[in-house]
Amino acid sequence: MGNRVFNFAAGPSQLPLEVLQKAGNEITDYHGTGMSVMEMSHRSTMFQQIFLDTKNRLRSLMQVPDNYEILFLQGGGSTQFSMVPLNLISRTGKADYAITGHFSEVAAKEAKKYGEVSIACSTADSDHDHIPSQSELNIDQGASYFHYCANNTIYGTEWSYTPDTGSVPVVCDMSSDFASRRVDVSRYGIIYAGAQKNLGPAGVTIVIIRKDLAGTELPKTPLMLNYQTLIDKDSMYNTPPCWCIYMVGLVLEWIENAGGIETMEQRRKEKSEILYRVLDDSRLFHCHARPGSRSAMNVTFRTGDADLDAEFVEEAAQQGLVNLKGHRLVKGMRASIYNAMPLEGVERLADFITQFDKEH
Ligand SMILES: *Cc1c(COP(=O)(O)O)cnc(C)c1O
Repeated sequence: MGNRVFNFAAGPSQLPLEVLQKAGNEITDYHGTGMSVMEMSHRSTMFQQIFLDTKNRLRSLMQVPDNYEILFLQGGGSTQFSMVPLNLISRTGKADYAITGHFSEVAAKEAKKYGEVSIACSTADSDHDHIPSQSELNIDQGASYFHYCANNTIYGTEWSYTPDTGSVPVVCDMSSDFASRRVDVSRYGIIYAGAQKNLGPAGVTIVIIRKDLAGTELPKTPLMLNYQTLIDKDSMYNTPPCWCIYMVGLVLEWIENAGGIETMEQRRKEKSEILYRVLDDSRLFHCHARPGSRSAMNVTFRTGDADLDAEFVEEAAQQGLVNLKGHRLVKGMRASIYNAMPLEGVERLADFITQFDKEH
């Protein structure tokens, strides 16, 4: 595996080497069945066991209470932007959205098709460089739900607290920090996350939903976008993304073997602090996110000179530190350091930042 690079891509992103190797070993013959997981019927005993194990692992790692269902869906985080209002907004006809970046903005825009949307807060005026405090949130107690994005993948900001919304259910896009830290699931109505950032390959989306929130969908809700249908059929109304679910299972097993969510949380703290420290110590680099709002998953920074940024990205790639180019909305650089990024990769990047700073 000498040709592996440290891949800082925002998603799809690096997976643990052990997971890829295990999947590789099992790819043509899964546990003596003589077939690949890709070739199995989703109704087969063998796949049903994989599905159940994956779901149980997730429930146990994330401490998901019994009154919540775990769904494995398709369509990415983006499909949840539609599913959430389609299923929930009819409760009162209105919903609150916190706008702290690109994805929350898209989610709010989509919800407007189905009901009345209030902006609980927006950081657009400061180029989404921070997260509002609890006292800055305008929560309408008549809203069907309050939606926010826990980690802003593009801007590199992350909520350090779960918003207190009174009796309004909290819906959270956790696409880019799911399973990286302990969350109290009981404080949420819905948590959703596309797997390709922190949990597996692209193609499966995890939804954790408090069961009593399903069943209030708008009449024209497409069958496949109806939470109640998917809960009733245990994510198997149609063929689920079998291979991706299996891969998520392997990643969860890897997390378990590493010590669980607390270990992931400790590692992400350690890794992100290393990067923010060298960036703060440098003369050349500036972080996009304000201290106190900085993401432990996506570290966004720049020199302020586009040519120099490009040089940084190119030279880093030559050293096996790849995909550091920032998103076009923020520019500069972005280092995505999800669960699977080893400490060594972060230390190598920190050394490179220090060296580049000295040389320029
Ligand atoms: C990547 C991402 C999305 C979009 O996910 P898709 O799976 O590509 O639809 C939504 N929200 C956040 C926070 C993301 O990082």
